[in-house]
Amino acid sequence: MDDRPDDTATSPNDQPDRSIFVSAQDVEDADDTLFAHPPRRVTRWLCDCGEDYPCTDVRFALLVKHAHAESNP
Ligand SMILES: [Zn+2]
Repeated sequence: MDDRPDDTATSPNDQPDRSIFVSAQDVEDADDTLFAHPPRRVTRWLCDCGEDYPCTDVRFALLVKHAHAESNP
């Protein structure tokens, strides 16, 4: 295992040789970007038939159920 000096466990912010030049405005923009783009975990539902849920069949079935519910309150 080679000892690469730039591959330490310290924070990247503490390594000026690694960082690109950024202005205060850039940092502010980056903060805004990170604030506006939080990570979001999406759960993908899969139908038992193998398609994304709701699949065509399910969508149609739900449509029928809704129509039925609306005509029979
Ligand atoms: Zn299905």
